[in-house]
Amino acid sequence: MPTLLPDMSLQQFQLFIKEVYELPNNRQFELAEMINNIQRFAMRSLKGIRKGDIDRTKKNLLISFGWFMSTLIRLKIDLEDEVWKRFPYVCSYCNSCPCSCKEIKPEHRREVSFDASKRPKNLSGFQRMFNEIYPSSLRSLDHAGVHLAEELGEFSEALWAYRSNRAPETFQEIMMEAADYFSCLVGIFNSLRVNLAFELSNLFRNNCHECHKAPCTCSFATIRAYRS
Ligand SMILES: [Zn+2]
Ligand SMILES: [Zn+2]
Repeated sequence: MPTLLPDMSLQQFQLFIKEVYELPNNRQFELAEMINNIQRFAMRSLKGIRKGDIDRTKKNLLISFGWFMSTLIRLKIDLEDEVWKRFPYVCSYCNSCPCSCKEIKPEHRREVSFDASKRPKNLSGFQRMFNEIYPSSLRSLDHAGVHLAEELGEFSEALWAYRSNRAPETFQEIMMEAADYFSCLVGIFNSLRVNLAFELSNLFRNNCHECHKAPCTCSFATIRAYRS
């Protein structure tokens, strides 16, 4: 039986989602329908921000993150590797930590420098890394929410582009946009001052958060009508 602990790595979370949801997802959902569900729950979390309902924001963003992982599993993308390639303890655009894009306004993305010894050992380490690159004290929660929506749009657009041409270079775009989206998701948890790994280990403490089975046995009707 898969278990999640608060010191989980991002790869362990991806493996957990694979064990719990890959089988029912493969049988029940097309790729586009899984993306619909990333959006469905992410937008509910943004409604939580607008209404000042932090519990609603947290729960829906965690469920959305589960669907996001399921989508990457379908596409055989390792999120942790992609995040580290895109954000090796520096901003992916200005190559500094903290990000200095506002001051130096780089016109082009700079080559990022890698120091393998800095790679975070677990998900909480990645969360801390993002708070050092993009300090939550320098933005509002609303701003973090708008940025999440923007990056989700870019991730969807990259997928759509790939489905339109099936070109390897377009698939690279999906991997980069996945890393960008993850940075914004973590950014919301940093703005909330909530530990993402702890929340995930709590919501998924007993397999699927709804049916508590592995693999998940939630019916299609349950998922379609799910209120959160
Ligand atoms: Zn920057
Ligand atoms: Zn279930």
